[in-house]
Amino acid sequence: STTRGRNREELSHQAFEEAKKVLPGGVNSPVRAFKSVGLTPIYMDRGAGSHIYDIDGNSYIDYVGSWGPLIMGHAHPEVVKALQETAEKGTSFGAPTLLETEMAKLVVERVPSIEIVRMVNSGTEATMSAIRLARGYTGRNKIIKFEGSYHGHADSLLIKAGSGVATLGLPDSPGVPESVAANTLTVTYNDLESVQLAFDRFGEEIAGVIVEPVAGNMGVVPPQPGFLEGLRRITTEYGSLLIFDEVMTGFRVHLHSAQGLYGVTPDLTCLGKVIGGGLPVGAYGGKREIMEQIAPSGPIYQAGTLSGNPLAMIAGFTTLSLLTPEVYERLEQLSAKLQKGLEANAKEAGIPSVINRVGSMVCPFFTNERVVNYDTAKSSDLDLFRRYFAAMVQEGINIAPSQFEGMFVSGVHTEEDIDSTIEAHRRALQKL
Ligand code: PMP
Repeated sequence: STTRGRNREELSHQAFEEAKKVLPGGVNSPVRAFKSVGLTPIYMDRGAGSHIYDIDGNSYIDYVGSWGPLIMGHAHPEVVKALQETAEKGTSFGAPTLLETEMAKLVVERVPSIEIVRMVNSGTEATMSAIRLARGYTGRNKIIKFEGSYHGHADSLLIKAGSGVATLGLPDSPGVPESVAANTLTVTYNDLESVQLAFDRFGEEIAGVIVEPVAGNMGVVPPQPGFLEGLRRITTEYGSLLIFDEVMTGFRVHLHSAQGLYGVTPDLTCLGKVIGGGLPVGAYGGKREIMEQIAPSGPIYQAGTLSGNPLAMIAGFTTLSLLTPEVYERLEQLSAKLQKGLEANAKEAGIPSVINRVGSMVCPFFTNERVVNYDTAKSSDLDLFRRYFAAMVQEGINIAPSQFEGMFVSGVHTEEDIDSTIEAHRRALQKL
């Protein structure tokens, strides 16, 4: 029988012990190990809609959504059906297929900055390739990123990174050569002055600025009015490229992604997560003139055995096709309701709390400070977060085991899911 909340965990414990014998840290991606919250990871068995079920028979309302991709929930019937039909025809050909063009057309139609697009297999590949393209196109070596942002694990971008790295308390990673790190300048999110200072000093050497238009790896931090516009102005002035890393925000915060929401058009855009509909996909795209510098139309090399593979394309295409303006209205309404409920609970419990939200990205911080960058995000009480996380899991609410990650509401969460979540959150806070 299945009960909501984590009442049994025996099988997950056993599974983790087995996994540690053959996988580093027992996992294939660090945050899954629950190291920063000091718990045993929950082994999931299946998901359906807004719910996820573990191998011990516990069920949860899910706000992780596979860390962002599952904007239409787990095992959406249309996505599953499309995958089954496609799989029967073969899983990969290493030759062009019609689906790739269909998918590209949809992305081009929806994302303002993208005139043409290249499909890859992960967000990391998308950002790594976009950086290479920016460097190749401009003939410059330096790039700018923001402290507390995470853009995947490519060498150039694993500098003062957020997400798992912040959670583990590592400022950067051994194995990244200093010579590579020296070409990455790190500045402060929502602080145009710090960007301007970097350009004053190195302007002619800067190939591009890569930015999460809504920061999602230091918790959720919205861009302040004028910030993205300022980046657009400064990069244009210096002949640098503006690169939006929309791996998390793409099709998450708006039908036309964050650039549609804020009306700022970058030169290049990186996508991932939602565009794969739960399969491994990334993409980068932008101005034709820049993108055509990539092989085979240009000299900058980037390739992939499985890039644009039929299963990934159909899962993404079907998911994007489900994302109508009505879905975004629903996401906004449900997420606003969730935010309001969480705020009221924190107030009632007398717990310091700031809840940042952009659309269906919702992030409660345990602080009284306004959270506008990585420093203020770090003012959140991480010990309190650990206890909060454990209490939420006990209540049957699956959230990311990290303060530096938001909750993702999906288009298949119901009003009842949100009500139950607010109730569970209320009880969880009372227990702290
Ligand atoms: N960029 C951003 C903004 C991300 O949030 C992530 C993943 N959390 C990545 C890049 C890396 O994507 P992936 O894990 O698919 O390599």
